[in-house]
Amino acid sequence: MEPDLPDDEFADEDDDDFVGLIDCDECGKIMEPDLFDGDDPLLAALPDSSAIYEDPTNDGKRLVMLCSPECLEKIQERFGRQPFVREELWAGKIVRSVMKHPQGVSPRVLEQETGLSPAQILAGFAWVERMRPAGRGKGPGPQAGGAGGASR
Ligand SMILES: [Zn+2]
Repeated sequence: MEPDLPDDEFADEDDDDFVGLIDCDECGKIMEPDLFDGDDPLLAALPDSSAIYEDPTNDGKRLVMLCSPECLEKIQERFGRQPFVREELWAGKIVRSVMKHPQGVSPRVLEQETGLSPAQILAGFAWVERMRPAGRGKGPGPQAGGAGGASR
């Protein structure tokens, strides 16, 4: 999960005061000083199954900014090599929905909110399970794993 969600507080700020460092997503070159001087900086949306946003229609796409057509070509090639994992995208949608419900959420609501089919939700869950760090058991507690499976 990345803090990709837009920050509402930004709307209150004067545009002229906006200070941000814009660098090329491929080579890291800082572009801000001459961002609008030429045609070289390019914005592009690339397929990325780990990209999840507040607006679900943007899910699965990563916005990138490149300093040149050459860097755009390179990053497109790089993104093209990494597999687009549908289960990862579904898992992201599920996690986003679950986060909205501190009280818990039923699979039925999950289905409505994510727009996923029950099979996709199950596949997304399975993906989350697979990605879980090794050594972490179910439930909290520093003693996890130390009891020697006495509870089973
Ligand atoms: Zn670059």
